[in-house]
Amino acid sequence: MKILVVNAGSSSLKYQLIDMTSEKMIAKGNCERIGESGSLLEHSGGDDIFAPMPTHTEAVKVVLDTLLDKKIGVIKSLKEICAVGHRVVHSGETFTESVKITPKVIDQIAENNDMAPLHNPANILGIKACLAVMPKTPMVAVFDTAFHSTMPQKAYMYALPYEVYTQHKVRKYGFHGTSHMFVASEAAKLMGREDLKLVICHLGNGASISAVNAGKCIDTTMGLTPLQGLMMGTRSGDVDPAVVEYLGNKLNMNVSEVTNYLNKKSGMLGISGLNDFRDVCDAMDKGDERAKLAIDMFCYRVIKYIGAYAAAMNGIDCIAFTAGIGENTYRVRDFVLSGLSFLGVDFDREKNYKVRRVVAELTKPNSKVKAFIIPTNEELVIARETNRLVK
Ligand code: ADP
Repeated sequence: MKILVVNAGSSSLKYQLIDMTSEKMIAKGNCERIGESGSLLEHSGGDDIFAPMPTHTEAVKVVLDTLLDKKIGVIKSLKEICAVGHRVVHSGETFTESVKITPKVIDQIAENNDMAPLHNPANILGIKACLAVMPKTPMVAVFDTAFHSTMPQKAYMYALPYEVYTQHKVRKYGFHGTSHMFVASEAAKLMGREDLKLVICHLGNGASISAVNAGKCIDTTMGLTPLQGLMMGTRSGDVDPAVVEYLGNKLNMNVSEVTNYLNKKSGMLGISGLNDFRDVCDAMDKGDERAKLAIDMFCYRVIKYIGAYAAAMNGIDCIAFTAGIGENTYRVRDFVLSGLSFLGVDFDREKNYKVRRVVAELTKPNSKVKAFIIPTNEELVIARETNRLVK
């Protein structure tokens, strides 16, 4: 049983082939520059394959040819791929969990395009391309937002006139749901119980925190779009909404330009001039004050939200760190966990310094609140969900 996981962007298509018996990834890669000149496939374990990919359909053909290739391929027949799982960013309120793809489902996903204009249309291109090349293979859509659909209304509503919710669906949705879902289930296994009050810090280039009570998300930091909440690589996270008009006037920008500014020019990049966390850390170590400020601001917001979510759940049993920054760098975890002794976190600083990219406990054996690194695996969640629905 093998499942192909597809994550299509507007000019890219990432894939993983996962064997569901072992739950191991057996091949992965990324088609880049689709629709542009110089399109290529970076297939793990092989040389880059340059091939014309005017649309996503040709990209999918190149992927399948590569998976079938006598030298670098991993399957003998397309029949070995029993289903395709597609990452879809925004479900709106239409779907609260993964769904088998039908023509109607594609239309329903498209109805939410304006809430994720950079992502949903590209995800649909990926779905249609796979359907064109593998029309008989069952396909499933797995949404970034779905895990957060259990949030109570008091958490997801914005205090705007109620009609903008009923008429325009303006509310908090949350993102990185597949990652939060994976980490929540791994944390429950590590703690040996389901009824956990858990805070998950997904800290990557995009970053979000979720509060999960007994396996159900009750709040998360991202909102209608991924712009809300934590400071990120290039996103501002929370700002006073009045900033939009004020900046528009001062910088002579329209609303879309300011939104773009908040999404692409802000965050770590805006404060320090650098958006990759490694570069910001290096600059800070060389004495760059702006880089230090950026990291202080990033960590401060993480700890503040953990405090807020501990209050929202009237307690906390476990804190989990995941994604590029959460798994790899001791610094953020050190800042955050050493500041939470008031909650009952007995932080193991030595251990934290040594571990990266592995499941690891970051608190001492008798710590009231436990903390872990739990490396995320979003593709595996998509494959598991796909398997569950096509069985
Ligand atoms: P995304 O999937 O949102 O693109 P990732 O989860 O891959 O993001 O995380 C990317 C971020 O993780 C980058 O800011 C990168 O600098 C950071 N990162 C990766 N490795 C390290 C490391 N060893 N130390 C510090 N930051 C790291």
